[in-house]
Amino acid sequence: MSALNELLGRLDALRRQAEEELAKSDTPEALEAFRIRYLGRSSGALTALMRQLSDLPQEERPAFGKEANLCKQRLQEAFDRKSAAARGPAAGTQATTDITLPGRTGLVGHIHPITRALTEIISLFMTMGFSVTEGPDIENDYYNFEALNMPPYHPARDMHDTFYLTDSYLLRTHTSPVQIRTMESQKPPVSIIATGRVFRRDWDLTHTPMFHQVEGLLVDRGVSMSHLKGVLETFLKAFFGAGTRIRFRPSYFPFTEPSTEVDIGCVFCAGAGCRVCKKTGWLEILGAGMVHPNVLKRVGYDTDAYTGFAFGMGIERLSMLKYNIDDIRLFFENDLRFLRQ
Ligand SMILES: [Zn+2]
Repeated sequence: MSALNELLGRLDALRRQAEEELAKSDTPEALEAFRIRYLGRSSGALTALMRQLSDLPQEERPAFGKEANLCKQRLQEAFDRKSAAARGPAAGTQATTDITLPGRTGLVGHIHPITRALTEIISLFMTMGFSVTEGPDIENDYYNFEALNMPPYHPARDMHDTFYLTDSYLLRTHTSPVQIRTMESQKPPVSIIATGRVFRRDWDLTHTPMFHQVEGLLVDRGVSMSHLKGVLETFLKAFFGAGTRIRFRPSYFPFTEPSTEVDIGCVFCAGAGCRVCKKTGWLEILGAGMVHPNVLKRVGYDTDAYTGFAFGMGIERLSMLKYNIDDIRLFFENDLRFLRQ
């Protein structure tokens, strides 16, 4: 047997012995003992074997050196794997902190979409000189209906699906009672918007039993339909965008004469016709009109001197169209996945 083959045989035997021993070394102490015995720089068994390189003839040294280095490298890798496993996964992650990972942040609250829309609407009307008022959620029949030109048995009462608390008290079905309360306590000129919750017995894709309205009222000398158009166009273009198309349709409300319903060009299909606008290209957005003289007379205003306009709209409907929400009930189910969007 040549000197080279003899050394290669001893190297192979050493490798197998080391692998067997490594397999049995499970504690940090045993692993450290293994490292010193086989891989140690000065006294390790592998190092000792490699020193015998000098006993070989010059031409055989590279062959053995290559094999010995390969063997050492394999043993070192096996030892490193085993050591990492012995430290355990927890120890491994504690040892280093990866500062490139994204941080964990706490949850941050958001403004509810209704509040957000309401805030924007209020600020738009305030810049036009309207002041903000409020009224009670519980009203009596007089303020909710009668003062608004809806005497008992008026057919329009049926459209309101009212929640009655007693024979004479009810949850207001619109914010219009605030107009009456304001005019009773204030001489013209009056320019207010009233915001708040209103209640009707309804529950489907576009109706909830409680929703929010913004109501506007302006009474002064010489107020005409053109003022109404100017105010609403200014508001709608500011809220939905300068390119918004607007149209006024004749309508009927007991408390205004003439009355109008206002549509905007469909925000979903830009007028081409889609499911939301029922192929018409238009979306109904609010009701308005010139305040009925009967309403002004009831609060003691001189109808020869003063005229006024009023308008009302649902905040939920405005938000649904502006933020592209297809089910009004989402606003009140408090699903955080919806509210965070
Ligand atoms: Zn459409």
